[in-house]
Amino acid sequence: MFDALATARRLALDEDTALEREVLAALTMLPREDVGGLLTLADDVRRRASGEAAAVEVLFNAKKGGCSEDCHFCSQSARYATDVIAEPLRETREFVAAAQAARDRGAGEFCIVVAVRGPSPALLERVCDATRAIVADMPEMQVAVSLGILTDSHCAALVEAGVGKVNHNLETSRRHFPAICSTHSYDERWETCRRVKDHGLELCSGGIIGMGETPDDRLDFLCALQELGPVEVPINFLNPRPGTPLSERSIVDPVEALRFVALARLALPHALVRLAGGREITLQGLQDLGMRSGASGIVLGAYLTTAGRDDADDFAMLERTGFRVLSG
Ligand code: SF4
Repeated sequence: MFDALATARRLALDEDTALEREVLAALTMLPREDVGGLLTLADDVRRRASGEAAAVEVLFNAKKGGCSEDCHFCSQSARYATDVIAEPLRETREFVAAAQAARDRGAGEFCIVVAVRGPSPALLERVCDATRAIVADMPEMQVAVSLGILTDSHCAALVEAGVGKVNHNLETSRRHFPAICSTHSYDERWETCRRVKDHGLELCSGGIIGMGETPDDRLDFLCALQELGPVEVPINFLNPRPGTPLSERSIVDPVEALRFVALARLALPHALVRLAGGREITLQGLQDLGMRSGASGIVLGAYLTTAGRDDADDFAMLERTGFRVLSG
């Protein structure tokens, strides 16, 4: 059997190449006692790609709950009895105030998120108006959006308004996707991701681990992301929400969570790999190690429907782990 870690180190560091499936698969099988070496390698690859820079993002839930879709992990679906109370779309001034608050918290990126299948004309117009206002007020702030399934005309409007980046997660592998959502397809997600890139927008695409996927699914998911080539890969860890079909699932094993972060870095060595929702309950006291396992950014709490920890704790973690926060 070949030495997976030595092979990975040669390819990733000496030859600066993204690891392909065969090597990623071998790293998936590394015994737990050898995972530390994998995390160190991913940390080295991250440092070479982006130095000590840490990208900090704040999410703004601009239309909470009431979503028509049935994503099994999501407490914003109208199909499940959860603790999320649906709220109408926020006013433009509320978007701007939230972006200012994000800047004051130290974020360089502000992501507008809405719980919809895809944007209605009125919703798109509101998001575009708000983006124009934010860009005019805070030109240094990177504005991203997460609006669901997008058409060409949606993308063109977002470009015109000054949106820089669009988030649209693949969530998991093609094979596993039907087990977590039946109201839209993996292909619809894939097509939106392609379309976003075709329009010259930066693509942010990642997903959630811990939804019952197999190790092969995690590899397929990473290989699909390699094919898409997003600039950013947000990694969420399932936080099982009461009332959703995944409410009884276990929290991801923290060593496997760290292994996945490292694999994401080695699969997409030049991407921004961002630790996102569920990192607190999954990694708990290992969050510092999460930042030394290939990640190069975080989403600050609060997330869309869950709280996260205090900003001061996250900024202290970034300082402790040797990161320098990118300003907007
Ligand atoms: S993940 Fe998005 S599309 Fe799916 S139910 Fe939640 S808000 Fe709706």
